[in-house]
Amino acid sequence: LLEVHGVHKSYGTLEVLQGVDLVVRPGEVTVVIGPSGSGKSTLLRVINHLEKVDRGFVALDGDLIGYARRGDTLRELKEKDILRQRTRIGFVFQSFNLFPHLTALENVTEAPISAQGRPRAEVEAEARVLLERVGLADKADARPRQLSGGQQQRVAIARALATRPQVLLFDEPTSALDPELVGEVLDVIQDLAHGGTTIVLVTHEIAFARQIADTVVFMDGGRVVEQGPPAEVLDAPRHARTRAFLDKVL
Ligand code: ATP
Ligand code: MG
Repeated sequence: LLEVHGVHKSYGTLEVLQGVDLVVRPGEVTVVIGPSGSGKSTLLRVINHLEKVDRGFVALDGDLIGYARRGDTLRELKEKDILRQRTRIGFVFQSFNLFPHLTALENVTEAPISAQGRPRAEVEAEARVLLERVGLADKADARPRQLSGGQQQRVAIARALATRPQVLLFDEPTSALDPELVGEVLDVIQDLAHGGTTIVLVTHEIAFARQIADTVVFMDGGRVVEQGPPAEVLDAPRHARTRAFLDKVL
């Protein structure tokens, strides 16, 4: 169970997250939508402790993310422990962010070997299975620049899965892709969703959200304005701001 509780986050005087609560249950797909600047990416980055919260907390199966409790106070974890904790939460970025000097296979095996200390042979065997699962068994030795955007993003998904995370975060995984490459990445995400992977997905692909979401979360101005099943939030929104947003994007 992933819990975001009362999270506030400011950049200077701009309060980007103004008290966000979110619960993601195992096996569920949560899709976050909302206007540009509403705090969607910041929320994902906070979940993974790529950004520190100012107030509130994130917990995964009861473990605080980024912090350890010491008596009544919280102490930030050491970098090494943060990296190990991040292996429990996969992250797929809009811009792929693959290591350019590593092959597809090496991109996938890097974190399990270096952050989790797992044996190379076992990790490589699993990485090949993951590359096959995203349709790239034949690209194991290719470097990112030799791959299309859609292929790079599928390597990034395999990489995110390689640490056997409990939850997978996607930040607009298809918005940097040429239109004809979007489908192959959405297909992979849909397969994962059907296979029971716990997913939090930020996207502007409303039709796709309707297809795969268990819960749709609409954010505006650093707050969750409404959330619920797609049939409610997308098809019968209760808030004027949600309606206005959907009118613009649909
Ligand atoms: P988009 O749909 O455009 O990706 P978003 O909902 O993901 O938008 P965020 O990227 O979370 O929005 O940004 C929320 C607000 O925080 C924006 O006003 C943005 O300019 C600001 N912001 C984000 N990151 C930083 C940062 N590192 N420093 C300063 N301001 C930031
Ligand atoms: Mg964003």
